[in-house]
Amino acid sequence: MSLIPDDVIEQVREAADIVGIIGEHVELKRTGADFRAPCPFHGGTHRNFTVIPKKGMYYCFVCHEGGDVFTFFMKRLGMDYPTAVREVARRVGIAIPERGPTGPDPREPLYGAVAAAADWFARQLRESPEAQVARDYLASRRVELDVVLPLALGYAPRGKAFLDAMKGLGVRDEVLLEAGLLVKREDGTVLPRFRGRLLFPIHDLRARVVAFGGRILDAGEPKYLNSPDSPVFHKGKLLYNLHAAKHAMRKAERAILVEGYFDVLRLSLAGIEEVVAPLGTGLTSDQAQLLARHTPHVILLYDSDDAGLRATFRAGDELLRQGLRVSVATLPAGEDPDTLVQKRGAPGLEAILKDAVDPLERKIQILDHKAFFSSLPGRRRALDRLLPTIRAAKDPITRELYISRAAEAAGVRKDVLERETGNEKRETSRTPTSPVSRVPFPALPASAEKALVLLMLEGDAWRARVVEAVDAEELEFLPYRAVFEAVADDGVLALDDTSARAYEQLKEEGLSGRDPNEMYELAVSWMEARRLERQLEQLDDQLPFESPERQASLIAEKRRVFDELRKRYPRYKIAARRRGAPGT
Ligand SMILES: [Zn+2]
Repeated sequence: MSLIPDDVIEQVREAADIVGIIGEHVELKRTGADFRAPCPFHGGTHRNFTVIPKKGMYYCFVCHEGGDVFTFFMKRLGMDYPTAVREVARRVGIAIPERGPTGPDPREPLYGAVAAAADWFARQLRESPEAQVARDYLASRRVELDVVLPLALGYAPRGKAFLDAMKGLGVRDEVLLEAGLLVKREDGTVLPRFRGRLLFPIHDLRARVVAFGGRILDAGEPKYLNSPDSPVFHKGKLLYNLHAAKHAMRKAERAILVEGYFDVLRLSLAGIEEVVAPLGTGLTSDQAQLLARHTPHVILLYDSDDAGLRATFRAGDELLRQGLRVSVATLPAGEDPDTLVQKRGAPGLEAILKDAVDPLERKIQILDHKAFFSSLPGRRRALDRLLPTIRAAKDPITRELYISRAAEAAGVRKDVLERETGNEKRETSRTPTSPVSRVPFPALPASAEKALVLLMLEGDAWRARVVEAVDAEELEFLPYRAVFEAVADDGVLALDDTSARAYEQLKEEGLSGRDPNEMYELAVSWMEARRLERQLEQLDDQLPFESPERQASLIAEKRRVFDELRKRYPRYKIAARRRGAPGT
């Protein structure tokens, strides 16, 4: 037996036609999106056995057998896991690389023990009188038992029944200890880690149960208790529900990150399947990386209280560091995702997701709301809070947009902010010795380029005016140039991702009450000044290579351009002196 790489197993599972494969063993009838049949495991005659292609799983409501396409082969035909994977791979035509005999996975006994425990806990939730408290609790949160049974929720009773049950199944204490299901007391005796708790099984990417999250059902502490890390479970490297959500994430091109197990449960029951949660800790960089492997865009849907906001921004920064697109959705005060979906259903949640904004924008909204921008020291403190998010942005375009936006919000110059974020632009080869690109032109929204594009979005008349005054090639910031060109040619739909993002942000921002005529005048003369600047640079570049006579006429030309620049833009003089104005 050889180890098959995880990504290959994934590929096989995704390619597998679970309806076709199970349909070879039982006669499936479609009911809605799912299929029903008499159960092949307990041999019933009623259609209690269901295949859910959307989740790639099956479940029997009578004997409670359940699993994925691989488990079906294992349980139905007695195959071991690698053989089941190879059998499904053969059917879908995926070649499994042979890596020679590396022996069985030494963690196999752990997986077995956790799976046996999960089955037993699930049976307690269904049947045990003591679990009535858990069933009542689910009912109080308006979760139907029938709906959660296929998800293998369980109940851990208070006493030692778990120990006896595992002994009866031949699972050794040492293995249960290693899996974190038992704890050893000082006197050397063992007891179950989970007692009197509703259990949420935590799956790895292969959909194997590797740990549990347990919610207390009386007044005890802590409210939530997770399995400790073990050879099969590293809580910082796994996300709750990722095994089920990843297909939906790929399809929806987004992931929704929530805080709690119940939030995940509620959203996926409401048909929003691309939902995951960290495992009782803040989002780790490993988890952010894991998300980046499955989706380009993450929407953060945490509580709106102070603790929720702090967790939101910390998670947001982790995700930005992975180059992900991030949005922050804002729930009404006092609601969590679970309660909101209970009240307003999936459409209510979608409306909130639709209004999600970029994390930097959300920070600015909050700071603005708290009047940070109305005083000088306040602005400084506001910047200190914006800087981590700017620095976290790995994607250069996002970072550039962030710097512009933060500079604008806090009323500081963009170049100053660039220095603070270590994002100082390297001078292009065009101007190796000139500090011109950092000349402190004042008082435009974030840049003249942005102002021009904002104006173009104000309708046909403004678009015509801007196109008349400026060529697209004059815009240096590429996303703005792309938007400029697209708007000029009515080609907005053809924008690439980055430029589309810039477009959406600009569209949303609008003129924000600024006077368009004034903006236009400022922006156009700024562009004009830059044009003249370039002429001067070109003349500078040319000068050393010309004959003395030609040099004299170039210097005359330079003075003419310089005068025009000074006339049009008086403050240019200060900066120009530094780089050696003509005649000095
Ligand atoms: Zn059955």
